[in-house]
Amino acid sequence: MFWGTIAWAGSIDQFTTACAPAFLILTNWAVILDRDGVINRNIDGGYVSAWDEFEFLPDSLDAIAELTRAGFKIIITSNQAGVSKGIYTEKRLSKITANMLDRIEQTGGKIYSVRYCLHKDEDNCICRKPKTGLFMQAIHNIAADLKNTFVVGDSERDIEAGKKIGCKTILVLSGKIKNKKEADNLKSKPDFIAKDLFKAVKSIVIN
Ligand SMILES: [Mg+2]
Ligand SMILES: [Zn+2]
Repeated sequence: MFWGTIAWAGSIDQFTTACAPAFLILTNWAVILDRDGVINRNIDGGYVSAWDEFEFLPDSLDAIAELTRAGFKIIITSNQAGVSKGIYTEKRLSKITANMLDRIEQTGGKIYSVRYCLHKDEDNCICRKPKTGLFMQAIHNIAADLKNTFVVGDSERDIEAGKKIGCKTILVLSGKIKNKKEADNLKSKPDFIAKDLFKAVKSIVIN
């Protein structure tokens, strides 16, 4: 997975297409990141409803750049029920996404796709985490092996969803769940616990 990006000057997609199927297995490592509490500061009990409320967590941009350099396909999935609750519009969410992606690219990161669930619990959709719809859509498009896919999240919903589909799960303590004690009380136990995304990425890249 590492030399795939080094040996090929084009994008991973071009590489995969040109060399498939022999090398497909080397390029299908993926990381699914939650957004709030992982990449940017979580607003406890509220929503990031505009770009000026979006604050990157320390080192999260560096962490994404490092994952990108290591050849991982990075996907962002996030529950954004604030849209169906009428707190912010889908258009405003798109604006936040576009600005976030700009900053990520400027700092050397590349995101393969961003997928949101806009529903509330009562809507009974198939995508709101801990349901697995968001993950399955994302994974389907990149032919990633679920066993070689890491899910990084700050809440039990992320971990539960990741475990349901057999991914490796990493809980970060930079958002909803703030310490080891709270983490130990969860019903869905993560495979790893890390202080933040930067520390999580260190363990992913070494593994
Ligand atoms: Mg979160
Ligand atoms: Zn949904």
